[in-house]
Amino acid sequence: RPTTTDADGGAPTLVGGPLAPVVGADVEVPLLGGRCVRYANLDYAATAPALRAVAERVERLLPLTGSVHRGAGIPSRAASTAYEAARDAVHRSIGGRPDEDVVVLVRNTTDATNLLARSVPAGAGDVVTLDVEHHATLLAWRGPAGHRVVPHAPTLAGTIERLEQALRARRTALVAITGASNVTGEVLPIARIAALAHAHGARVLVDAAQLLPHRSIDLAATGVDYVAFSGHKLYAPYGAGVLAGRRDWLEAAAPYLAGGGAVRDVTLDGTLWASGPARHEAGTPNLLGAVAIAEALHELEDLDAPDGGAATRDAHERALRRRLLDGLAGVPGVDPLAIWPDAPDAIGVVAFTVEGHEPGLVGAYLSAEHGIGVRDGRFCAHPLLRRLGTPSGALRASLGLGSRAEDADRLVAALRQLVTEGS
Ligand code: PLP
Repeated sequence: RPTTTDADGGAPTLVGGPLAPVVGADVEVPLLGGRCVRYANLDYAATAPALRAVAERVERLLPLTGSVHRGAGIPSRAASTAYEAARDAVHRSIGGRPDEDVVVLVRNTTDATNLLARSVPAGAGDVVTLDVEHHATLLAWRGPAGHRVVPHAPTLAGTIERLEQALRARRTALVAITGASNVTGEVLPIARIAALAHAHGARVLVDAAQLLPHRSIDLAATGVDYVAFSGHKLYAPYGAGVLAGRRDWLEAAAPYLAGGGAVRDVTLDGTLWASGPARHEAGTPNLLGAVAIAEALHELEDLDAPDGGAATRDAHERALRRRLLDGLAGVPGVDPLAIWPDAPDAIGVVAFTVEGHEPGLVGAYLSAEHGIGVRDGRFCAHPLLRRLGTPSGALRASLGLGSRAEDADRLVAALRQLVTEGS
């Protein structure tokens, strides 16, 4: 694990190297002329590479071919134990309330928000979201139940006030908000929003797809009722995610999927559905995905543990984000986007435009001529991009545990070359 370095002229908090080993950190990619360079991954927010410890855990588990909850043999029993141990570990890691919260293992954040959308009790009130949301948290509620979208204000404080007005205006069952913007990185005050929602009889879902890879979350301490996240953004593989939170709504809701594993008894004309998380987990579950998520959370906790002053993921990413923003500020025509310039906290996600250059072409240029991977487009947040005045999209650079100062510097240098030489 790297410690704080002074490699850049004595800057006290600058972290030069990766904070934790990730798979594929030193992969080389070919440039347009055929030369190869180390791939500069500035696209952690889309999908993060697996932590090496997570990949090793999955590899060790791979030979286990017993079916979870479906077999009397030793492999099946081992698989079932590993699966439920992963669920318990996730529950602990996110500060789940011992008896009140359940951890449902789903496919990804989108699956999680859709499951919760089907579980909000009829007649309990509307679902309220902000207009900054990723489509996973914006679209899941569209349908027969009332869904209100609160336009964000230019300040975070003003936005919270607007949320409160919306809560006062009409009965609300659920406030569904992102923990950190997937476009601009600002972090929302989730404990405060939870308290506000509770004061008006509503619950809160935090879409932590972006927050959790950067900050831990504690349901009990923050009062957040539900959390949704994806393994593939959390240094674990694709195909597994989590919806965790209050048991009552989930146990009263119709099963999300109908099939084996979600039932207690079936007759030819009736079904007694299971309670607990199994109710929504019909079909053979994703054992590797569940174990990988638990392992990733464990590794992240380990990094966050105070260890005598070594850099944590927070300090690491803050230093790199600062370095990137400072670098971009020196490139003419590069304009970082912000939803709330007053936000006190942000994760390592930076969106920007380059004056006179189409985002798609800039993204292709960075990849083909510099071996840099960013995201271009509208980031599954079309209404937000419209509000930010960039309806045709922007570019996004995002950082993670394997990021290096060199990655940020390469992006800045490539953009400087683009705007000065026009190549
Ligand atoms: N919510 C946020 C804030 C995201 O950034 C994303 C993915 O980019 C999602 C939800 C959806 O995640 P998934 O595609 O894994 O369902």
